[in-house]
Amino acid sequence: MRINVFYLAMQFLKLLYLCLSGLLSDDEPENSGKTDNLSAELRGIKPSARIKNILCKPEKSGIFDKSESPYICLRCGRAMLDDFGLCTDCMSRPVFFALSYARHITGYGKNQRFFINQWKFRQNRVLGIPAATRLLEAYAENFEGLPVVPVPPREGRLLLAGFDCVGDVAFILRWCFGVKVLKPLVRIDSEEQKHKTFAGRTDKSKKRYALKTHRKLKYDAMVLIDDIMTTGGTLEECAALLKSAGVKQVYALTLFYA
Ligand SMILES: [Zn+2]
Repeated sequence: MRINVFYLAMQFLKLLYLCLSGLLSDDEPENSGKTDNLSAELRGIKPSARIKNILCKPEKSGIFDKSESPYICLRCGRAMLDDFGLCTDCMSRPVFFALSYARHITGYGKNQRFFINQWKFRQNRVLGIPAATRLLEAYAENFEGLPVVPVPPREGRLLLAGFDCVGDVAFILRWCFGVKVLKPLVRIDSEEQKHKTFAGRTDKSKKRYALKTHRKLKYDAMVLIDDIMTTGGTLEECAALLKSAGVKQVYALTLFYA
């Protein structure tokens, strides 16, 4: 994907302006750290104060706060109440076979929905920066040194949002933090994943991704990155493709899990 340098420069200036205006204003934005009035904010009444919170005071925004439970499912990475090893979903209807395991920053709640809405649908492209830095922390904690593979976007999503969120994160990881990024996958269908049922999402007969070339990938391990894991069907399909190309272990890292 070609990067429009002028557009990126404009986004950077916008970020700088937001940060500076946040630092210069004395009054504390209302609802800092709270989830009240989110729907009102989403309707556009008071979005700027909260966005400043995300960008300049990420520790207050509550968007990337880890879940309180120290226990996670060893396979899908969802938080659990106790140290059960695997969650009930992974025991009763497992989704991951090719994928070794997935890890996430936190669950997908009100704050996270606000963030995704602002980032993807309101096209606040600068939010890719806090997303990438937080994902980098989780990457360093779990998968340090392994090459990263972004899950490719659907074409319709690209047209709607005007940019590829996960691609932006991968771009920042690569050029700002020196993470090795590979793009061996391509999206081949255009059906929106979120409109499907669980069965539709995990249906393996309908292929949604493919490998770009027949060349072998001589890597012991790779990490898929994505914004949200819902059923895990997408990650599993991508992992199966990478394994078929010769990768021995495939892991996944996402910002949020639903
Ligand atoms: Zn699980």
